[in-house]
Amino acid sequence: MEPKDTTNNEAFKGFSNSNCPFMPCHKGVEREFNCLFCYCPLIAYECPGPYQVFTDGNGLRRKDCSACTLPHNGYRRSWNFIQRWLERPKIWDGHDQDPRRLKQPNTESDG
Ligand code: SF4
Repeated sequence: MEPKDTTNNEAFKGFSNSNCPFMPCHKGVEREFNCLFCYCPLIAYECPGPYQVFTDGNGLRRKDCSACTLPHNGYRRSWNFIQRWLERPKIWDGHDQDPRRLKQPNTESDG
């Protein structure tokens, strides 16, 4: 098996499950719909996504990520986005998203 850092095959960076009954689960995805991050790895960490905060039945503050396309918009693009934000993960403390921190989906580079 070739290490992912040296292979030219990028198939591991994403896939679309077109048979999923929830597809399309997030509106506004313009590129290949990446289902790899269906459960976003950044859910417990700081992120630049447009999440809303709600309080669950146990009194815990949670992210509602319905409006976020960042982990889904294009295989390579979303893969790179997640890797970049996992390099230095910071635990999310339950605060509301600061509009100044929002990343626009089309500003995320493919590189
Ligand atoms: S807002 Fe987007 S990037 Fe942030 S945790 Fe939710 S799905 Fe992931």
